Amino acid sequence: MAILKVAVLGNPVLRVLAEPVRNIQAPEVQRLIDDMIETMREYRGVGLAAPQVHRSLQIAVIEEEKNPDAPKEASRPLTVVINPRIVPLTDQMEEDWEGCLSIPELRGKVHRFKEIEVEAQDRRGKPLHLKASEFFARVIQHEHDHLIGTLFLDRMKNFETLTFPAEFTRFWARHEEEG
Ligand SMILES: [Zn+2]
Repeated sequence: MAILKVAVLGNPVLRVLAEPVRNIQAPEVQRLIDDMIETMREYRGVGLAAPQVHRSLQIAVIEEEKNPDAPKEASRPLTVVINPRIVPLTDQMEEDWEGCLSIPELRGKVHRFKEIEVEAQDRRGKPLHLKASEFFARVIQHEHDHLIGTLFLDRMKNFETLTFPAEFTRFWARHEEEG
């Protein structure tokens, strides 16, 4: 296992459509998945997509254990999503905060579908069908975007909420708590 270098904003690998994975069982693919999991944990991400570690492949890993951004949510065990397709189950969208390991030091509010269905393959190549809502649905949509060359900045309606961490704590987190 190895911690991989994360590609950041401006790197063209973040802006192209990732290739589908055909031979999921291949040792190099399995090694990449293990390394992505280790990298996500090292940098305390709740998700990581292969283009973020310079590999243009349709693989994302998600794990929301002890997520400080959603303390009320149950933790979600490690999920590996390969070649995913997403179908919204509702027109309803919700705006909430997002950050990204590839866009360090910035957060912003993004609209996402509240409930989605995912059709994908797991790391053994078996079909994976799951329904997701709320924060888990948001993370999957964020990671899926990475696989189509899209970043959360592209999904913001405008940049009024784009915020550095210190200002987030100072101006935004407090507002949220005060409602
Ligand atoms: Zn991201």
